[in-house]
Amino acid sequence: MKTRKLVFLGLLCCFCATLTFAQKKYSKKQIEKLKSEAAQIVEANHKQSQVMVDKIFSFAELGFQEVESSKYLTGILEENGFEIEHSVSNIPTSWFAKWSNGEGPVIALGSDVDCIPKASQYPGVAYHKPMVDGAPGHGEGHNSGIPLNITAVLAVKQLMERENIPGTLIVWPGIAEELVAAKAWYVRDGLFDDIDMCIFTHVSNNLSVSWGQAWGTGLISVEYSFEGEAAHSAGAPWRGRSALDAAELMNIAWNYKREHLHPLKRSHSIFTDAGDQPNVVPSQASIWFYFRDVEYQGIMDMYAMANDMAKGAALMTGTTMKSKVLGAAWPRHFNKVIAETMYGNIEKVGLPTWSEADQALAKAVQKEVNSKDTTGLAMELSELGLPVKEPKSGGSDDIGDVSWKIPTVTMRFPSNIPGLQGHHWSNAIAMATPIAHKGVTAGAKAEAMTILDFLLKPELVKQAWDYFNNEQSKEQKYEPMISEDDMPPTYLNKDKQDQFRSALEKFYYDETQYDSYLEQLGIEYPTLKE
Ligand SMILES: [Zn+2]
Repeated sequence: MKTRKLVFLGLLCCFCATLTFAQKKYSKKQIEKLKSEAAQIVEANHKQSQVMVDKIFSFAELGFQEVESSKYLTGILEENGFEIEHSVSNIPTSWFAKWSNGEGPVIALGSDVDCIPKASQYPGVAYHKPMVDGAPGHGEGHNSGIPLNITAVLAVKQLMERENIPGTLIVWPGIAEELVAAKAWYVRDGLFDDIDMCIFTHVSNNLSVSWGQAWGTGLISVEYSFEGEAAHSAGAPWRGRSALDAAELMNIAWNYKREHLHPLKRSHSIFTDAGDQPNVVPSQASIWFYFRDVEYQGIMDMYAMANDMAKGAALMTGTTMKSKVLGAAWPRHFNKVIAETMYGNIEKVGLPTWSEADQALAKAVQKEVNSKDTTGLAMELSELGLPVKEPKSGGSDDIGDVSWKIPTVTMRFPSNIPGLQGHHWSNAIAMATPIAHKGVTAGAKAEAMTILDFLLKPELVKQAWDYFNNEQSKEQKYEPMISEDDMPPTYLNKDKQDQFRSALEKFYYDETQYDSYLEQLGIEYPTLKE
């Protein structure tokens, strides 16, 4: 008999999905046997992982434009018995895929899927060679995480069915991660309400996991739009009120502010509308900022300062101002119990065996981008990541919001080359080569084994919630940065993707004709500079 006991966890939390499951007890030996079987299934499915990785690489879709990627991935999940909920949180390219084998731990597996503007690049070629000039490309390696998760869940599902192991597996995509514009909405809209834990995966250059506050920042993404009055720039400029002046003045004010910000804070902006042509006084202009800090409060302080500057800029120029939140990401805090359990499996799996060709490519790319790291691919496994003692600034990921909703970790897997600058064509080079494929297989093994640990020892789920409620949430309470009215900006990137879609289509990977994407592209692996 299964019992479902809801535990009330005092002041810090409302009702969490902390359940206890009475089920068959497995001995340590039985669990280890099932886990090594899962790893064998993952290994045997290496070909399928390679096809998925290469396929998503070839679609090269920006955030909110992940049409082909989502169609392809949900197709595979559907074929394998998953139930798909499409367009979650009103995001057309988003979905949650669920498969259940009865009441037991509900485990969600997430990863991002979008790519980077202007990062088009031939894989396996150790210098800048765009496939389509100016087009998007996987210069962040987000083509690998969902294929990893699918590989892992299909292996686990096979064993759950055979052994009648209860539990539910959910696969979900981080849509528009580069805009941090989906996960906070998923949390707001209740998509994680009935889920016990989340394993998130992200490409990296080692196989690793951490717990506690992670390095890096959270952020709020805000666009400020000004409206003035057009006029002939030469005929009657005194009759115009320039919205661009306002946007520029706000930018200047923020740049002065920068001197007085703590170095852990980071901010950057682009003009999204800077007028049409010089002889028309711009009646509309917009500037888009990311405000980052290692703490939630620091982010909100920057946001408040920027709002004042935007109002000031409007006052100075006689324009009006509107602002819009386009994305948000909480600083990440990862779960100790999941991380420690996973690290045990990471140690068992170890790093992939790199070939001479893999290392030659990696070293050549490091040289090409003047990396300080010149030693090629990782040969030594990362240690378990501990909470950062001195916070370190850096990037963000909206998995932060999920990590404050349910026990969560990010597993990093070795599908890319160390020492690259990120968000760059060089980060795409390895992503449809044996380096990426081997990294995904290693990661999928560690993930599958960890899922089994939690399915077969549900007391671990309870321990993960104990950490979440009694340690993680002791001093910090999650407050969403987005409001009930904020909508995900799903119109973003449409023009950029449409401009290149037909050119990119010619490069879509046809796995029925070619063993690998490198073969389809006619690339000798590795291709190095003469
Ligand atoms: Zn990423």
